Amino acid sequence: MLEAVAEELSNLHRYPDSEGTELVHAIAGFHGVAPERVSIGNGVDEIILLLVLALADGTRAALTTDATFPSYRESMRATGQPYTTCALRDYRVPVDDLAARLRDGAPFAFVCTPHNPTGGVLDEAAITTLHQAAIAGGGVLIVDEAYGEFAAAGFASSLPAAATGRNICVMKTFSKAYGLAGLRVGYVVGDPAVIAKVNRLHPAVPYHVNRLAQRAAVAALADQRFMRESVARTVDTREHLRDRLHALGLRSLPSQGNFVLVHLGLAHESLVMLLRANGFAVRDTADMGLPHHIRVSIGTPEQMQAFLDGLADLL
Ligand code: PMP
Repeated sequence: MLEAVAEELSNLHRYPDSEGTELVHAIAGFHGVAPERVSIGNGVDEIILLLVLALADGTRAALTTDATFPSYRESMRATGQPYTTCALRDYRVPVDDLAARLRDGAPFAFVCTPHNPTGGVLDEAAITTLHQAAIAGGGVLIVDEAYGEFAAAGFASSLPAAATGRNICVMKTFSKAYGLAGLRVGYVVGDPAVIAKVNRLHPAVPYHVNRLAQRAAVAALADQRFMRESVARTVDTREHLRDRLHALGLRSLPSQGNFVLVHLGLAHESLVMLLRANGFAVRDTADMGLPHHIRVSIGTPEQMQAFLDGLADLL
């Protein structure tokens, strides 16, 4: 990937391919889907905004959950798309609630699996229920699988449904398992009618995925071994962290992402302040609708050891 990027440096005087044809075809080939089902973006963050613009209804409320990745609601707020947030139940995505509203004609719904910040996943039955509800109501189910590569074997990906079906899209990113957050590349696979609507917005954001990002993503996709090895290391470190947190008397949720949600209880505000003062940039999830918790991203074993030592000193 680094060699490909180095080579591309001599082409920086040229604009990139506005449609990202090579990358779109590489992604389509990788997932075994038609290129008409793939669109790329400047990170999933941009794809979320383009999907909202493409599917904007303006009157009927779209859906998301509370305690989730904030970009869904930020994009809806910024574009004036009305939306409803359904409350999590015992840290779980409220499938029946979302399905009922989709059946009632909600234009689209964002769900996240593995879920940021809980690390929980939706099972196949839940995905099917939500997809069927979207079909029945004429809406679109948008599944964010940004962390899918970190999930255990047997993870119920929506990619097979998005590869052949209608009323469903899956978003994926090079920012997490591929380690390319700084380059900003994400993609969406799904219903070709939705992809066509998204692509029609591209003239408003021409050349949105830069040359280095396109080239790096093609190379990264071709190097699955590197990705799998780094995911395996992250998963080992994540499980070790959970064991050590348990030994410190702290409850954390089982996670299928590259992070762990930790319950800090009532002392959480002062602990977050002290952790930050000691250089640990933990995510306070209060503004995501989960007070008294932090989300801890998995770094190297050495970084996590330093975090655990720092935390133990503060408890
Ligand atoms: N989806 C989820 C659930 C995320 O947590 C994040 C990153 N914080 C993103 C999408 C953003 O991905 P990208 O870097 O591709 O914009």
